[in-house]
Amino acid sequence: MLYAVLFLVYEKEKRADDMNLLYKSTRDAQHTVTASEAILKGLAPDGGLFVPVSVPKLDVAMEELKGMSYQETAYAVMKQFLTDFTEEELRHCIDSAYDSKFDTEVIAPLVKVGDTYHLELFHGATIAFKDMALSILPHLLTTSARKNHVENEIVILTATSGDTGKAALAGFADVPGTRIIVFYPKNGVSRVQELQMVTQKGSNTAVVAIHGNFDNAQSGVKALFEDKELEQEMTEKGYQFSSANSINIGRLVPQVVYYVYAYAKLLDNGEIVQGEEINVTVPTGNFGNILAAYYAKQMGVPIAKLICASNENKVLFDFFQTGTYDKNREFVLTSSPSMDILISSNLERLIYAIAGQDDGKDRELMEALKSEGRYEITPEMRGRLSDFAGGYATEEETMAAIRNTYNSTGYVMDTHTAVASHVCRAYREDSGDHKKAVVASTASPYKFVKSVMSAIDGKYEAMDEFDLIDELEKVSRTAVPNAIKEIRNAQILHTRECDADKMKETVKEILDI
Ligand SMILES: *Cc1c(COP(=O)(O)O)cnc(C)c1O
Repeated sequence: MLYAVLFLVYEKEKRADDMNLLYKSTRDAQHTVTASEAILKGLAPDGGLFVPVSVPKLDVAMEELKGMSYQETAYAVMKQFLTDFTEEELRHCIDSAYDSKFDTEVIAPLVKVGDTYHLELFHGATIAFKDMALSILPHLLTTSARKNHVENEIVILTATSGDTGKAALAGFADVPGTRIIVFYPKNGVSRVQELQMVTQKGSNTAVVAIHGNFDNAQSGVKALFEDKELEQEMTEKGYQFSSANSINIGRLVPQVVYYVYAYAKLLDNGEIVQGEEINVTVPTGNFGNILAAYYAKQMGVPIAKLICASNENKVLFDFFQTGTYDKNREFVLTSSPSMDILISSNLERLIYAIAGQDDGKDRELMEALKSEGRYEITPEMRGRLSDFAGGYATEEETMAAIRNTYNSTGYVMDTHTAVASHVCRAYREDSGDHKKAVVASTASPYKFVKSVMSAIDGKYEAMDEFDLIDELEKVSRTAVPNAIKEIRNAQILHTRECDADKMKETVKEILDI
């Protein structure tokens, strides 16, 4: 009898082990960790990114997903990636994240605009799509810390092109056991974005403007993560770093959810039939959002093309066109600053996948990127890119997309979404591929009010940003979001600035080490 019970326990544990999805580094396949360890670490010790050993297939039928709420869908998807979380832990994380911080119960509404479906991902606390992942990451991270008996205080170090910073600050503010330091490019974010960050409350928050661009900030943060000496000093003081950037698998996994949800809703609303393929266009910067769509496709969501939309910093468009990734080019400041990026970190995860999970090849290419700023993939790897299409929009095309969509439908979209909207339409016209199209709508127009209103009518160009907010309310017939109301009279709490090569000193100063 006892033997039988023991045997059952053994079998159960063994099964749990078999079912545990492990993560490995793109630069060292030997190094595997659990999901919670990957979330805690952010970046692998060798500088690579954690990827699931294999992308799980959805184990719930679309028929069933069709009727699910956002939270239920999130559980159905995330449980397959975060297998070392208990049901209770995961449901708690989900329920704490996707609550009344969002201004709509459906969390991510799908809105039909002309002949495309806009998946609105900007209904969270900071009105950009980063909220979709950053409202849950603090919960995933603190749960992971508990699971792994971490005693240290976790220091979140983040580089932002504008939206990640605020969403991370909002998510981590006053979360016990954590501190957060955000670096943003001094002249590289919108006025609203900057105000949102520098007015952030919370005794564990720090915001620093760097004299440089986003790539400087991102490279600087990566260097700090890889700095063994700093790690030692941190440990002595009871700190350890983690990342809220989209290199963290805890950011990526929650983003897979809304692609599953969008497909299920299209089905539920009778817009598509079971199994019908759709195309998805994503305004892309760091390649996190579109990579999540790629994972959704691998899970079994019938997505045909993943269309990667760039602004004038079209390094990704050129990559899909030629197979060469080359960041040696002029950095352009555009009206879609969250996409002003020349080093798309998450592309490494795709490179690893199309290299046939060859960590040596990945390492070689990433080293070339670091030393020469460019790399070229093999013809075989290029052959594995057929799921993707690339496109880009110039500033004029972006503005025209906002204006034309407004004139023909009354719908007002932000600059990032407009880049995707242009690319989606251009792809359809050029390819003749008329599958139903979903556009990831990544920010509220209120966040980029100056550019948006100027695109609609030149008469707004000379107006003050805050007056334009009231004009946008009239034009769009959507209420001013709370996120905007809050910054109108908020006090500026962060004024720190530093040179791009002084980030380490700045971090030590903030942490008093
Ligand atoms: C971050 C961001 C993007 C780019 O997303 P990635 O995951 O970095 O490719 C696009 N639009 C907005 C509004 C963003 O904040």
